[in-house]
Amino acid sequence: MVTRALDVVLLGPPGAGKGTQAKRLAEAFGVLHVSTGDLLRDEVARSSGLGLEAKAFMNRGELVPDEVVGRMLLKRLHSQQASLGCVYDGYPRTAQQAHLLDGLLAELNRRIDVAVFIDVPDEELVGRMTGRRSCPSCNAVYHLTAHPPKGGEKCDACGTSLVQREDDHEGVIRERLRVYKEATAPLLDFYRARGILREVNGIGTPGAVHGLLRDGMRSVKK
Ligand code: AMP
Repeated sequence: MVTRALDVVLLGPPGAGKGTQAKRLAEAFGVLHVSTGDLLRDEVARSSGLGLEAKAFMNRGELVPDEVVGRMLLKRLHSQQASLGCVYDGYPRTAQQAHLLDGLLAELNRRIDVAVFIDVPDEELVGRMTGRRSCPSCNAVYHLTAHPPKGGEKCDACGTSLVQREDDHEGVIRERLRVYKEATAPLLDFYRARGILREVNGIGTPGAVHGLLRDGMRSVKK
């Protein structure tokens, strides 16, 4: 039996929980989790050419140019692990990126099957992001009060010292929210017009939100 690939876009403001949910969904469906934020942070950590290009934009809370992120996405999409499909987390963020993704998938005889919007109000987002700590080694994410690591500020999974993302400081967070509203929120209408947008309430435990996401995706036609 030949199964068609499954491609899912997760939309939502920074801090909505896209990373956590994307990881769980990708595991549940056996597809690849593609986080452009994680891929960019890896490039920055390795001081690659692409990382050096991206770093200043990221630290200011601005978007990295479409062309730079597009190059990185292309490489990922053409990898063997992406052949069964992907959950896209943090991509697309602009109309141009949405069109690029459509084009890349069309070349592979695929299309976005569903886009899910994780809805969280602004006042909740700032608290979530300022308390966020992440593992630079395995990308596990914690929150100082909502999901604290067990042993001080060390990763439960691999023991690495946790870090606060440079762009999780309040001034940068406000800029990221502004950029989200201006450039990314309009994509909701783009996928809504296609009839593939689902919306879930992102307030709740990660498990509860995961349940809502799975329910919302039940009607997806493959
Ligand atoms: P994230 O981890 O998704 O919140 O992304 C962190 C930062 O990486 C963003 O604030 C942007 O500077 C950059 N970034 C991630 N994904 C993209 C994208 N699709 N387009 C442009 N910049 C991105």
